[in-house]
Amino acid sequence: MSSFNYDLLVIGAGSGGVRAARIAAGHGARVAVAEEHRVGGTCVIRGCVPKKLLVYGAHFAEDLKDARRFGWNVPKCTFDWTVLRNNVLAEVDRLNGLYRQNLSNHQVTVLDERATVAGPHEVVLAGGRRLTAKVILIATGATPAVPSVPGAELGITSNEVFHIEHAPLRVVIAGGGYIANEFAGIFHEFGAQVTLVNRSNQILRGYDESVRDRLLQISLGKGIEFRFNAAFERIVRQADGSLRVHLKDGEPIDCDQLLFATGRRPNTAGLGLEAAGVDLDDQGAVRVDEYNRSSVDSIYAVGDVTNRVQLTPVAIREGHAFADTVFGGTPRTVDYRCIPCAVFSHPPLAGVGLTEAQAREQLGSVKVYTSDFRPMKNVLANRDERALYKMVVDADTDRVVGLHMIGPDAPEILQAAAVAVKAGLTKQDFDDTVALHPSMAEELVLLK
Ligand SMILES: Cc1cc2nc3c(=O)[nH]c(=O)nc-3n(C[C@H](O)[C@H](O)[C@H](O)COP(=O)(O)OP(=O)(O)OC[C@H]3O[C@@H](n4cnc5c(N)ncnc54)[C@H](O)[C@@H]3O)c2cc1C
Repeated sequence: MSSFNYDLLVIGAGSGGVRAARIAAGHGARVAVAEEHRVGGTCVIRGCVPKKLLVYGAHFAEDLKDARRFGWNVPKCTFDWTVLRNNVLAEVDRLNGLYRQNLSNHQVTVLDERATVAGPHEVVLAGGRRLTAKVILIATGATPAVPSVPGAELGITSNEVFHIEHAPLRVVIAGGGYIANEFAGIFHEFGAQVTLVNRSNQILRGYDESVRDRLLQISLGKGIEFRFNAAFERIVRQADGSLRVHLKDGEPIDCDQLLFATGRRPNTAGLGLEAAGVDLDDQGAVRVDEYNRSSVDSIYAVGDVTNRVQLTPVAIREGHAFADTVFGGTPRTVDYRCIPCAVFSHPPLAGVGLTEAQAREQLGSVKVYTSDFRPMKNVLANRDERALYKMVVDADTDRVVGLHMIGPDAPEILQAAAVAVKAGLTKQDFDDTVALHPSMAEELVLLK
């Protein structure tokens, strides 16, 4: 019998931590997981899941409008934020229960407390209890980063947005990444005047230029406002309770809600890692090798806290690979090539592989095929939104190296097509596949 309290002590019961705990326990390890907030982590409690449910809720605004063109007599509809919010939070509660149950079914002990690292094999819980483990896994995720400007505390982040009392009539969203653009779409569909304030001159850095430009054009057409190259000066509460956002240049903006979506910082502050000898990078992320091992042999890290690719499926894979490597006797690493990703904006966009610019830089000789079309449904609905699909092909080998799209259901279509890109299929392989008609996805095999 080992002299440690546990074989594995995981700090953080989010996407990566829960998967690692469950798989390690399945390999026979004695496992505990410490969680300071709620089991399920960011994705389940205040990220992907509640966000996607709000996206669904928001999309009804367009569906109800379009339905009239399809013959439905839709009376004037009103939207009740409280109903949606409470239903979403109830679903989050249900999932939280399932996650707890799942851990308990695998004999994983849940410690409902904040934990910090006290040494290579020692953890201290907030209540003072000290526990030892042969291996410690840091899976503490990331936390919203808020710019330090006077009055920033008057704003909220994605941690609070799912709980707000009222849907705002005027909202300022700080940031230009996927969370900012998703909430811009959500609040716009709920009827708010949305202004997105970004410090650079573009949105969605890292995504293909054509699709992000299409989203910008569609968003502008819908009435979402953008302030580019804008820096916050201060935020003040006005006599009527609303907020006034002062920027370094340009007119101030009045709003009812200010949402900061200005990036996420690895959650390592006050965790005791430096004292235990764990190397952190300049962003505070835990430095790990390809097997998720830190600079201390007995301490590993997975997920957002390592700041590699901050996505749920990646954290899950890292947690799984860690558990198989350390407790299953099967060393495994994660393949970071061709990770598909999406922005659940209105309309959504998605991509996998190299953007056109990346391909030109890395490969030199590149062929690009695009389809710029108005989806059939949008035509009948009189909706002036065009979809855009782009395929990036290595001209020397005919291999499809990137696929990028914006339009209805783009993430659903792209997930399937990503298999082909990951498998290294060629443009000819796409061409050889018979179209499924009528569909939007058929554009992928009809690109000329
Ligand atoms: C608004 C939003 C939308 C998102 N949408 C998507 C999406 O559509 N698709 C996607 O793939 N990803 C999305 N993400 C990202 C995704 O949520 C994260 O990549 C994922 O949750 C990372 O998993 P993790 O295990 O690393 O950390 P987390 O899931 O964040 O879990 C970390 C856990 O550790 C706990 N913790 C932290 N410190 C301590 C401590 N000292 N002691 C005890 N417990 C501690 C935290 O409370 C948390 O529960 C979204 C994120 C946000 C914020």
